[in-house]
Amino acid sequence: MITPIDRPFSQNGSLLTVDDLKVEFRMRDGVVKAVDGVSYKLDRHETLAIVGESGSGKTVSAQAIMGIIDTPPGFITGGAVTFGGKSLFDLPAGERRAIRGPGISMIFQDALTALNPVFPVGWQIAEMFREHNDLPKKEALKRAAELMDRVRIPSATDRLDAYPHEFSGGMRQRVMIAMAIALDPDILIADEPTTALDVTVQAQIMDLLAELQKETGMGLILITHDLAVVAEVADRVAVMYAGRIVETGPIGDIYARAMHPYTLGLMSSLARADRKGEKLQPIVGSPPDLMHVPSGCAFHPRCPYADEICMREVPVLRDVNVERKSACHFAEKLATNV
Ligand code: SF4
Repeated sequence: MITPIDRPFSQNGSLLTVDDLKVEFRMRDGVVKAVDGVSYKLDRHETLAIVGESGSGKTVSAQAIMGIIDTPPGFITGGAVTFGGKSLFDLPAGERRAIRGPGISMIFQDALTALNPVFPVGWQIAEMFREHNDLPKKEALKRAAELMDRVRIPSATDRLDAYPHEFSGGMRQRVMIAMAIALDPDILIADEPTTALDVTVQAQIMDLLAELQKETGMGLILITHDLAVVAEVADRVAVMYAGRIVETGPIGDIYARAMHPYTLGLMSSLARADRKGEKLQPIVGSPPDLMHVPSGCAFHPRCPYADEICMREVPVLRDVNVERKSACHFAEKLATNV
């Protein structure tokens, strides 16, 4: 059994603080700076969406918080993560491990590969209770059925013995959510929780996460490449590009007026109900190779607003107004022109 963690964590201030986090991968060909100075805070009852194309550092930053970066080749080379007043990188490995599950829990990208194909789903959920709470098998299975019911898996008790391949994509994702919330976490990180699901099931899964958050008050971090998926449920957004946060703010404000050309590009490639008839415009080019990040602003080769300064100077993430930050040399101009 894993040693239980102390609860409750600090009720005052932020539940989670990520400060100047840096993660790199030392490969044979060179160093990949996957996360390059990321900072944010998360409070109870709050939903933060971390948005960006694949390879922007979203998932790696979450893995660093969870303490599941494979070292080597991955190394946390700077920054701090504070959870409930404790500096995670300074904790002994056992204490760190004990936080995973009841403290911070994560739903991984691909439910089919994340679940073990050779064990029934009921057994896999029950294992969480056996490992962390030392419950006898019968009681653990009963709790597993209750959880499956809570995430709206029909006929939960009858399906305890079913295997992952017997569930649809949406139902498998519900199983993953059940496992992630089994220990009543203070923070849930959901990494692309709706990828590969159709639009209706996507909406159901997002509604379920929002509902569970309302019930429990947990802080929720949603990692996604799709701004539209989080529009209804997120409170704040952090947009990532090439390992950095390039824009942050309340989701409604960002939808109304993006203050970074990359966010504008993400928005222009979205089908929006309030902009029917407008042509979708994908961002030109592809994300940079993080072993050879462009000089100055990493977005400049793809940016329609790029000027000479953009190739020379790295724009810092700075306040544009009370609630908004942008890492663009021309953020104020964008704020008034858009
Ligand atoms: Fe574009 Fe320059 Fe702003 Fe970067 S700093 S996003 S290149 S305008």
